[in-house]
Amino acid sequence: MKVLKFGGTSVGSVESISNVKNIINDGDKKIVVLSAMSGTTNHLVSIAKDIEEGNASEAATKVKALHETYKVVVNNLLNTNAELNADVQSYVSGVFELLLGATEKAFTQALENEILAQGEILSTYMVNAYLKQEGISSTLLPALSFMRIDAEKDPDIDYIKAHLKTVFDNAEDAQIYITQGFICLDAEDEISNLQRGGSDYTATIIGAAIKAEEVQIWTDIDGMHNNDPRYVENTRPISNLSFDEAAELAYFGAKILHPQTVTPVREDNIPVRLKNTMNPEAHGTLINNNHSEVGIKAIAAKDGITAIKIKSARMLNAHGFLKKVFEIFEVYQTSIDMITTSEVAVSLTIDDDKNLDKILVELEKIATIEVDKNQSIVCLVGHSVVNHHDTYRLFQILQDVKIRMISYGGSNNNISLLINSNDKIKTLSKLNDYLFELVTL
Ligand code: ADP
Ligand code: ASP
Ligand code: MG
Repeated sequence: MKVLKFGGTSVGSVESISNVKNIINDGDKKIVVLSAMSGTTNHLVSIAKDIEEGNASEAATKVKALHETYKVVVNNLLNTNAELNADVQSYVSGVFELLLGATEKAFTQALENEILAQGEILSTYMVNAYLKQEGISSTLLPALSFMRIDAEKDPDIDYIKAHLKTVFDNAEDAQIYITQGFICLDAEDEISNLQRGGSDYTATIIGAAIKAEEVQIWTDIDGMHNNDPRYVENTRPISNLSFDEAAELAYFGAKILHPQTVTPVREDNIPVRLKNTMNPEAHGTLINNNHSEVGIKAIAAKDGITAIKIKSARMLNAHGFLKKVFEIFEVYQTSIDMITTSEVAVSLTIDDDKNLDKILVELEKIATIEVDKNQSIVCLVGHSVVNHHDTYRLFQILQDVKIRMISYGGSNNNISLLINSNDKIKTLSKLNDYLFELVTL
């Protein structure tokens, strides 16, 4: 069986939902994972933020406005079956009553998680009813009955396998099994989520749990492009990526995939295909364990990076210094992305600066510290990229960009550069021109 995931834009309008129907209605049984309609999760985030900041009335106004939007969408979507229309309008009203009730409560993380979960709960209910209206047999598999993360926030795969089987066995027989992406329970059985963009991750977790034949991620672009299309012109889709390459690109900022997407499926070699809902004929990108030619295949960038330079004369000829440094990051559960060392200093980067102040207090006890915020990691990815002849040209291409750090050889498939975020678009564009468009220096 295949698992097909459709993102926010794919369920963002009646026209897109009708495209989804055509794609999934091929006679095969399948699991369909849906995101919230595009814009909804952002809207819910801002409602939760208003509640946190004590602006209950602002939050309530936003809830009512979103409800009005949904009323219109439901009427447009369920326009030939009055009974289904009434059922969905009443379900949607129930969800918005819950949200309105939430605006009167005190803010807690659990409340925010419950608010954020409503986007996927709405979209799946609506699409399930729409498929019924169109005469397609479909049923809902509630994600909160089987999707769970453990105390480390990793998928609790044994729990998921067992509970998904039970939910599946008890569901009415259907051609299409629809479930919510993104949402899950945590180790305490409270509502939680797989972080923003997490529906991709839901799809591959389910893919691994049922040993799917393939996982398809349907979105608004024809696959993974060789550079970030939000910032660079003339980007092109890549037809094949290895799991390693896809994992590096997703981790280092290619928004088309949640950073953890390929983790659950790589071991079982379950292929992941990236496809365009608006252009299903396009090949898209196939991710599997085949490695193709050597060279730089794609570039991605990750923002919001903080660089920390740790200088200490005690490093000179001493052992154990790095251990002390790493232990501090370990205590504050902050992972390090890039690292470079010299005889008297070590520079490293983090993307989660929640505990930065506490980390700095500890580091200052053993060294002199410099912190640079607003940095970006630009990551060049490709099989055996470090051995390719283009690699030597990088400094030449980027001669007028200040490179703060470089990581080369940590993995054969990745070269990472740390730059100021203000230089990101220039850096991505120059690399695109000289590496992919064959502009000569
Ligand atoms: P969905 O809502 O379907 O999950 P996303 O917005 O999360 O869609 O991901 C698709 C978007 O990712 C594209 O519209 C594109 O702007 C962005 N993107 C960033 N980097 C890349 C890349 N390298 N290749 C393709 N898309 C990318
Ligand atoms: N709806 C969630 C988000 O916007 C999950 C997803 O779209 O993948 O982050
Ligand atoms: Mg996404």
